[in-house]
Amino acid sequence: MKSILIINCGSSSLKYEVYEMPDRRSLGKGLIERIGGSDGHLTQKTPEGKTEYDENLPDHKAAMGLMLKALTAPGGILKSVEDIAAVGHRVVHGGEDYSASVIIDGKVIKAIEDNTELAPLHNPANLTGIREAQTLLPHCPQAAVWDTAFHQTLSPAAYLYGLDRRLYEEYRIRRYGFHGTSHRYVCGEAARILNLPPQEANFISCHLGNGASITAVAAGKSVDTSMGFTPLEGLVMGTRSGDLDPAILLYLLDKGLSKTEINNELNKKGGMLGLSGVSNDMRDIGRAAAEGNRRAEEALEVYAHRIRKYIGGYTANLDRVDAVIFTGGIGENDIPMRERIAGRLKSIGIVLDPARNKEVRSGPGIISAQGSPITLLVVPTNEELQIALDTYEIVFG
Ligand code: AMP
Repeated sequence: MKSILIINCGSSSLKYEVYEMPDRRSLGKGLIERIGGSDGHLTQKTPEGKTEYDENLPDHKAAMGLMLKALTAPGGILKSVEDIAAVGHRVVHGGEDYSASVIIDGKVIKAIEDNTELAPLHNPANLTGIREAQTLLPHCPQAAVWDTAFHQTLSPAAYLYGLDRRLYEEYRIRRYGFHGTSHRYVCGEAARILNLPPQEANFISCHLGNGASITAVAAGKSVDTSMGFTPLEGLVMGTRSGDLDPAILLYLLDKGLSKTEINNELNKKGGMLGLSGVSNDMRDIGRAAAEGNRRAEEALEVYAHRIRKYIGGYTANLDRVDAVIFTGGIGENDIPMRERIAGRLKSIGIVLDPARNKEVRSGPGIISAQGSPITLLVVPTNEELQIALDTYEIVFG
C-alpha cells in the first residue's frame, strides 16, 4: 500500500488529501486559507474528526510546513513524512505541451513556466507548491496532473476560433478547456456504472459548480468543451458571464470602463451573482426565486437555457450519446435545477424521471426514465482521487 499526497496549491490557499493506493481510500484531507498573512488557518478532517490550526503563514513554504506538521501530528493522518510515497499536484495549464499526467522534471517545470502567460493566476501558485514539495519531501517522486490535458484530443474544428490564424500561431489563442480531471473521472465512473467499455463510450459531462463547463466525449476522448482560451467561456457560472458577444468588451471600453473594471464585470460581478442580484450560490438564488424574486427566477432560467443549448449542440456533433452526466456542487445537489434543465430535453431523447431525480440526490445514480433513449445520471466528482490514481499509475504502475 502506498500513501499518495495530493496537493492543489492556489494563490492564497492550499488543499491537500492523502490517499492509500491502490485501495482508493482517503486517509484525510485539509484546507489552508489566507496564506500570505498573519491569520493563516488550517482545517484538517480525518475519519476520526476535525483539527484546526491558526498560524502566521507569510508564504507557501510556511503553509507547506504547517501541512506536514498537521499530517504527522499525534492523531493526524501519517506517522511520519517518510510514509509519503509520492506527491500528485493539480496543475492548471499544460498548454499544448501535455495531453496526459507526467512525472515532474526540469522539462515539466519549464512547460509550467512557459504556460504561465495563459494561466497567470494559477500556474505560478501550482509551481510554488511543486518547488516547496520538492524541497520538503526530497525522497518523493512528484507528478503533474493537468486541468487542460484531457482536452488535448480536440480537433482543430473544435479548438480553433474564427480568427486570423496568426493569432493562434503567434499568441497561442485557441480553445484549451479546463476541468479535465473532473470530466475524465466522472466519465470513467459513468462507464463503470453503465457497464460500458470506457474507450467506446460517448458522454456529455456537465460539471456544474461555482465554475462550470460541459464536455463532449466520443470513444472516451474529449472532442469539445465549453471553456475556451480561459475558464470564462461557455456556461453562466457563479460570478463569471460565460459566452457573450465579444463586441460588448469594445463597447464597454468606449463607455470608459477600464480593463480592470471590465475584468471584474466578466469574472467577479457577472454570472448568477450579477443576474440575480442575490448571490453566486444556487441555494440562495433558489430560495429567493421561490419567494417571488423575479430576477432570481430569470437568472435560473438563463442558467438552464445555456446548459440545454450546449447539450443540444454537443448531441448534434456526436454520432451517439450514451449518457449525460451531472456533477459538481450544483449537478450533485441541486435537484430542482436538474429538473429545470433536463425536464425540457425530450426532443433530443433525454427523458427525466422526476421521482428518481429526487431519490438519487447526490448520486451516483440514474435519473432518466426507464426507456429514455439517452441515460441521464448523477456522478459525484473526485478530482483528488483521479490525481491519486494517475500519480500511482505513473510512479508505481
Ligand atoms: P463546487 O464549486 O463544485 O464546490 O460547487 C459549489 C456550488 O454548488 C455552490 O456555490 C452552490 O451554488 C452549489 N450547491 C452546493 N450545494 C447545493 C445544494 N444543496 N443545493 C443547491 N446548490 C448547491
